[in-house]
Amino acid sequence: MSSAATTFANELVSALRLTAPIDPVDVARQLGLEVEYCQSSGFEGALVCSKEKRVGTILVKNSIREDGRRRFTIAHEIAHYVLPHHGTTGSICRPKDVENWDRSLPDQESEANIFAGELLIPCVLVEAVVSRNRPTFHLIRDLSNTFDTSLTASAYRTMGLTSFRAAIVWSTAGVIRWFKASEEFGEFVAVKDSVSEGTYAYDCFQGLAVPDDLRTVKSNLWLAASRRGLPDFLQEHSIWLPSYGSVLTLLYIEESAHALVDQDEEALEELQPEDFTINRRKWPR
Ligand SMILES: [Zn+2]
Repeated sequence: MSSAATTFANELVSALRLTAPIDPVDVARQLGLEVEYCQSSGFEGALVCSKEKRVGTILVKNSIREDGRRRFTIAHEIAHYVLPHHGTTGSICRPKDVENWDRSLPDQESEANIFAGELLIPCVLVEAVVSRNRPTFHLIRDLSNTFDTSLTASAYRTMGLTSFRAAIVWSTAGVIRWFKASEEFGEFVAVKDSVSEGTYAYDCFQGLAVPDDLRTVKSNLWLAASRRGLPDFLQEHSIWLPSYGSVLTLLYIEESAHALVDQDEEALEELQPEDFTINRRKWPR
């Protein structure tokens, strides 16, 4: 499902020679779409097209406060316009359809969100930086600033590109709604479970101040039991997002020294210790 969205977004980035920050209004215009802002109590964004999509208009709710969210909504509607099998006359998208990676979303909404993330933070422009550096909210905030995207969209893209063992988790009203892990993460977060007491995310929901960096917590507070056994600890950094009543959490698993493979000393000096792992499928370039 997601590969078509990724391919179409990458093709568009390449064909239009887009550079950071990507302007989705300009992309829409180049595709022959107008963008209009209007009052709406129901939809976040909508696409209205003539039959067979010869001409069209993207409607965006004018009360969206965050620029990153507005830009993501436009990119989401572009997805419905360019992706095959997304209808011939348009779409109407609810707030919960946009910039959300909950697996219970209809396939076309998930696909539009994957496309929007790829279009706004193109792999070709960020892969080198993201895959090489340890994922932190510092790195993710840099991406948000460079690409003018929300923290959540930037964090989601980071997990798709990093070569480290990391995941982000979205919780609302004390319940885990979705998570996105890197290929190397190798563990599962129990979606639909309540956020465990003892985590910093739990403290956020209690209205408590939490540290603005990674801190060590017991891994069984976050990870579903595994036959292989869990690492004892992982690193957590949770951020309270008041406009959404939600918490965005970054989880990071430090890789142990026994995962080091034999290398000559010169090669070891050139690379960071965490660059070595028997689990890694993608290697920093
Ligand atoms: Zn949609």
